[in-house]
Parts: sequence; structure tokens; C-alpha cells
Amino acid sequence: MTSPDPALAPPAEPSPYASALEQLDAAADILGLDDGMRETLRRPRREFTAHFPVEMDDGSVRTFSGYRVQHNDARGPYKGGIRYATGVSLDEVRALAMWMTWKCAIVNVPFGGAKGGVLVDPDRLSDCELENLSRRFISELEPIIGPDRDIPAPDMGTNARVMAWMMDTYSMGHGHTVPAIVTGKPVEVGGSQGRYEATGRGVLFATEEIARRRGDALEGLRVAVQGFGQVGSVAARLLSEAGARIVAVSDAGGGYHDSHGLDVAALAARASERGRIQDPPPGADRISNAELIEIDCDYLIPAAIESVILDSNAERVRADVIVEAANGPTTPEAERILLERGRVLVPDVLANAGGVTVSYMEWVQDLQSFFWEEDQVNRRLSRIMRKAFAEVWERAETRGLSLRDAANVVGVDRVVRAIELRGIFP
Ligand code: NAD
Repeated sequence: MTSPDPALAPPAEPSPYASALEQLDAAADILGLDDGMRETLRRPRREFTAHFPVEMDDGSVRTFSGYRVQHNDARGPYKGGIRYATGVSLDEVRALAMWMTWKCAIVNVPFGGAKGGVLVDPDRLSDCELENLSRRFISELEPIIGPDRDIPAPDMGTNARVMAWMMDTYSMGHGHTVPAIVTGKPVEVGGSQGRYEATGRGVLFATEEIARRRGDALEGLRVAVQGFGQVGSVAARLLSEAGARIVAVSDAGGGYHDSHGLDVAALAARASERGRIQDPPPGADRISNAELIEIDCDYLIPAAIESVILDSNAERVRADVIVEAANGPTTPEAERILLERGRVLVPDVLANAGGVTVSYMEWVQDLQSFFWEEDQVNRRLSRIMRKAFAEVWERAETRGLSLRDAANVVGVDRVVRAIELRGIFP
């Protein structure tokens, strides 16, 4: 039996790449870019597809499909996570790679944008199968990655453990340890202090910055968080420590709601490594992920997957502010509806940039073999995130733009400048 080639499958509806292109077009219009530059930015520089075999525990062999898309490296080596999920497609990875290009430019770290993904449900693999798959996939990528070429990191469905296997595999092929080949590693093998929490901590900083400008106190602020993995659980815990009341959380199986506030620290302490909430919080109501988006709260933080705020539910979003911790959670049409309704949206390319910011610090530490204390990492992260927020805010205020358009204008402008300075080879 032949399975359909997912690379040839039509994009998921709504297509994340179509959303990414629409967002790029808006920034390009504001910047007045010519057609040649637009075409350069619209298309990824390279797209890599691999169909590769993995031996399963029962001795059978399964073929998996994976992608690496390298969008643009004008500002530095390609950088971006690797995702393991059943919804992975070339269309999705293209969008995620493009968003990485703008994100790195917005926080002004010297990287380009890339992304990778494997079509797999990691929860259905044993540890051994997951290790075999991870080692084989990184070997497939070997010709196009490297510590000064393209540096992967964790994303949905992958974690520090997977990064350790990938670093080891690449190092074995090179005859020496190459810690800077991936970021998001365990600290014992060249990871950075503070990297695990970095994206969630960056979400906290972005939330603090928008709340301060709106005059919203964090104390008592009612926040709903979708997704309870590396990003969602940390953002929820840090916001709760800062005084916010987390009224709803969820994982892939659904969520919990308690208007009095959930004990997030206890939930996070018991969550699985893959972001599954283990024990129902006492007194909380069971809700679906769709209900969480429409829950009565002040701030909504989608921290799981793309396209959860759509034109079909944007009218019913009750939160005043949406902080996009996930990549691409809001479609352009839904965003128009939210903005018309006076809602404020802090875009993914800014709100979740804390992860790549500390990945940059990890890469620098690996290259220098000189490691920093956690408070040094967190202080630098705070400074970089708050500066980027201020630059985006200032652009939005002075040009009358949404925060998404302002962020993309800042990011695209920096990438265009680098392309122009470097010129076209030959
Ligand atoms: P993760 O795998 O650690 O956690 C994902 C969480 O989302 C889990 O709780 C999972 O159960 C839940 N989930 C999965 N499918 C869902 C669905 N259909 N509906 C609701 N919840 C679902 O992943 P993560 O690293 O926390 O990444 C989450 C998001 O943040 C992704 O969009 C990712 O691209 C983005 N992001 C991650 C990082 C990082 O450093 N890990 C950095 C920037 C952006």
C-alpha cells in the first residue's frame, strides 16, 4: 500500500503559509518594497524533504516524512525549531520558517529563519523509537545544518532530551562534540541556564509591557492559557507568581476553568514532560479547547497550535488582550475582526521571541565554552524583549499601525537592509 505524499497534499485550511504571506504583504506595502524584493522575501531559500525509515520496537520498519525549510539567512545562520506533530506539512513549516526570519530580526539577534518538522505523534512512540527517529532525522539534515549554517532547537513535540540525541548524533558524525549544533539542550551537555523557561518568561515580559501601557495591573488580572507545554505552563506559572489569576488552562485533551483561579504551580509540577495535565484541579470545570478561546477573561494566551482564533469564533473572544505565545494562532481575518472590536493583539513574532533570544545566548556560550549564571541570562532576556517591545510600540504609535504590522515592519525592514548591504551574488 502506498501512502499519499504529504508534501504534495493541499495545505491545511486555513493555510499558515497563506497567513504568513498576507502578513508579509502588509509590511511590504507599508515599507514600499519593490517587486523583486517582495519575491525574494516571499519564497524560502531552500526546502528540504526527507522520507526516512525507522526501526520500531517490534522489529517492523516505518517510513516517516520530515522537512527543513530555510527561509532567509541575510542576517546570520538559519535558526528555528523542529516540531514533531501529526499536523506537520510543508505549508506549515514554510510559514514557521518565515516567521522565524522576522522574529530574529525584531529582537535583533544575528540569525536568519528556518524551521523543521516531522509528521509523527511522539506520544505514540516508545523512548527508543523516539530516539531512533530523532537520530535518523538529524542525520538526514546533516548536509544542510551546522553551528554556523543552521541551528535547530525544540518546538512542539520535541524537548531538551531530543536535542541531546541530535547533538550527540551530529557530534558522532564529526568525530568531536559540537554543542552549538542545536540549542535548547539540557544544561549538562551545553544547554543554557534559563533556556527551558525562556519563551514563557518572554511571554511574561511581553504581557507586563502591554499591561503597563494600557494601565492594567497584573495583580488579579484574569488570564486564560491554551497549551500547557514548555511555553504555556511556564507562562501561566510566571504570570501567576506575578499576581495574575489563571482562570483556565488546557492541553491537547481539553482544559479546566475556575473563575477563582487555578493552582498553576501545582498543575505544572505534576504535568507530564509532553505538557499533559495529569490530575484534574479540584473544583474546576472541564472545558474544551474551543470553549477556552471564548472564556470570560481579561487576557487570552494561546500557547499551543496555529489557527485557533478564526473568523468563526473571533466575534466571541471576550478577552481584551491576546498575547500570542504560540506561532500563528490567529488567522488574518480573525485578527481584523478582533481589531475592529477594539481588542489588542501582541503578535507571536514579538511575544514568543524569548525562546530564540536565549537560544542565541546558548549558542554564544557553546561557541565560547563559557557559561553564564541564570540571573545574567534572565536580565539580558528582559532587556532585549523590553527593548524590542518598545521599538515595535513606538512604530505602531507613530505610524498608526497594529502591533503585528509594526513588528513585521521592524523585522522585514532589518532583513531588507541586510540583503541590500550584502548585494546579490554573483
Ligand atoms: P509543547 O509540545 O511543549 O507543548 C504543547 C502543548 O500544547 C501541550 O500542552 C499539548 O498538549 C498542547 N496541544 C497540542 N495540540 C493541541 C491542540 N490541538 N489544542 C490545544 N492544545 C494542544 O510545545 P511548546 O514548545 O510549548 O510550543 C507551543 C507553541 O509555542 C508552538 O506554537 C510553538 O511553535 C511555540 N513556540 C515555542 C517555543 C519554544 O521555545 N518551545 C518558542 C517559540 C514559540
